[in-house]
Amino acid sequence: MDPSPATALRTDVAVIGAGAAGLFGALTAAREGARVTLVSRTPLDGSASYWAQGGIAAALAAGDSPERHVADTLAAGRGVARESAVRVLCDESPARVHELQHLGVRFDADRHGALALGLEGGHSARRIVHAGGSATGRRITRQLAALAATDERIDVLEQTTADALLVADGRCVGLRIRRGDDHAEIYARATVLATGGAAALWQRTTNPPGSVGVGLALAHAAGADLADLEFMQFHPTALVSDGDDDGFLVTEAVRGEGAKLLDGDGERFVDELAPRDEVALAIEAELRRSEARAVALDLRPVDMGRFPNIAEVLARNGIDPQHDTVPVAPAAHYTMGGVATDLDGGASLPSLYAVGECACTGLHGANRLASNSLAECFVLGRRAGLAATAEPLVGAGEGVHAAALPDPPSAATRSALWQHAGLRRDADGLRPLLDDPFPVARLIAAACLAREESRGAHQRRDRPDADPALDDTHTVVDVDGNATLERWE
Ligand SMILES: Cc1cc2nc3c(=O)[nH]c(=O)nc-3n(C[C@H](O)[C@H](O)[C@H](O)COP(=O)(O)OP(=O)(O)OC[C@H]3O[C@@H](n4cnc5c(N)ncnc54)[C@H](O)[C@@H]3O)c2cc1C
Repeated sequence: MDPSPATALRTDVAVIGAGAAGLFGALTAAREGARVTLVSRTPLDGSASYWAQGGIAAALAAGDSPERHVADTLAAGRGVARESAVRVLCDESPARVHELQHLGVRFDADRHGALALGLEGGHSARRIVHAGGSATGRRITRQLAALAATDERIDVLEQTTADALLVADGRCVGLRIRRGDDHAEIYARATVLATGGAAALWQRTTNPPGSVGVGLALAHAAGADLADLEFMQFHPTALVSDGDDDGFLVTEAVRGEGAKLLDGDGERFVDELAPRDEVALAIEAELRRSEARAVALDLRPVDMGRFPNIAEVLARNGIDPQHDTVPVAPAAHYTMGGVATDLDGGASLPSLYAVGECACTGLHGANRLASNSLAECFVLGRRAGLAATAEPLVGAGEGVHAAALPDPPSAATRSALWQHAGLRRDADGLRPLLDDPFPVARLIAAACLAREESRGAHQRRDRPDADPALDDTHTVVDVDGNATLERWE
C-alpha cells in the first residue's frame, strides 16, 4: 500500500488495531471469505496484548463450569455487570481456547500433558490458561500476527494510523489513514475499532504509552455512544521504581502461587486473592496510613521459573526475589468502559464495531475479573468478525470526515487524572477535569460525576457507599458529552 492524498481503497472489513482483539477479528472475517484491511499504528510489541502476562480465563477444569465462571464474574462486577454479556463470555471462552490451539498457539501443559490452569484473584477455580509462563500475550499475538501476515485475504498496513472515521448517511463507511505525510481513505462495509484501552491517560500505569483512548475519541467524534468510563481498574501490584520499569505489572498469578503482601511491619493486611478493587483499595489505605510509596510483595513462596519475564525485570532492578521483597503500588491498568456495544460488538453508529479493551459490552461491570479481558478479545473479536462480514455494501466515495483525532494528552492531563480521577475521587476534584483539553478526559470526568455512589473501581470520597437503586445500571456518554445512568435490559 502506498497511500497518497488521492488514494481511496476499498475493502469488506477494516480493522483498526492489531492486538489480540483486532487480529482475531480480522482472521475470523477473512476465514468467512471477507477481504480485510488491518491497520496498526505500532509494531506488535506496542500493544497491551503483547504485554499480557497471566492468561485467558476459561472454565476447562473438571469440576469447573461456565456457570461458576459466570457467578465469579458477576460477583466481581459489583452488581452492574450485564448478565447477558457475561454469559456469552463464559459460555464461549473454552471454545476460543481450543480454536487458538488449532491456530497453533501452544499453551503450557501439566506433567500429564493437559492444559496447566492457573488461579487468580476472584476466581473460585483454577481456570487461567497461559503460555510461556507469564509470556502469554507475547506468544499468542506473535502466532496470530504470523497468520494474519500470510493470509492472502488480509492486507496488513503497519505503522499506519487511523485518524478519522468516515460517516455518511448516518453510518460508518470507513476510515482515513495516515502514514507520515500521506493520507488515504479506506471504504468498508464494516469498520472494527480494536484500538485498546485508556489506562495510559493516568500518570502511573501498567499500559503501553499508546493506550490513551484513541478508539473512544474516534467513536465519540463520529457520533457513537460510550459507556462506563468511570470504571478504570487499578492493578494492585505494579513495580515501584525510579527508572523506566516503574509501573511494570507483577501479575496476580504470583499471588495465586502463594506470594504475600506485607505492610511496613512485615505483616499481611489483605486477602491476596480478593478481587482487584479490594486489594488495590487496601494497599491505597495502607500507603496513606504509613505515608510510604510502596508495600512489599513477598515472592519467596513462588517458583519464579514460571515467571521468567518478571524475574528478568526484577533482576534488572537489582531485586533478588529469593531474598528481597518487591516494592509495589497500584497503577491504572484496565478500562472497563469504552465504546458502547451490543453482544456482537456493534456500536450505536451503524456499521461501526468495537472489540477488546476499547469496547464496553458491560460484561466487566464495575471491576473486571482477572484474565477475562483476553477471553473477551477472542470471544467478542470472533463475534464482531462474523457480524461485520454480514454488513451491506456501501456506495463509494460518499464519506464525510468525522472530526480528526485530538492531539495526544499532555503530562498535565495525565497528572490531573491520576490526582482527581484516581483510586478515590470526589466532585470537587472531578469538576475542573470537565474543561481538560483532552476530550476523553472530559468524558471520563462526566461519567465519574454522573455516578453518585462508590462501587468497585469507582470510589467517591463524597459518596462512600454503593446505592442499591443503581444496581444494574451503566453510564452512557452521548455524542454531546452528557453522561446519564441507564438500566441494562
Ligand atoms: C501489563 C499487562 C498485563 C496484562 N495481563 C493480562 C492477562 O494476563 N490476562 C488478560 O485477560 N488481560 C491482561 N491484560 C489486559 C489485556 O492485555 C488487554 O485488555 C487486551 O490485550 C487488550 O487487547 P486489545 O486488542 O483490545 O488492544 P491492544 O492489545 O492494546 O491493541 C491495540 C492496537 O491498536 C493499535 N492502535 C491504537 N490506535 C490506533 C490508531 N489510531 N490507528 C491504528 N492503530 C491503532 C495499536 O497499535 C495496537 O496494535 C494485561 C494488560 C497489561 C497492560
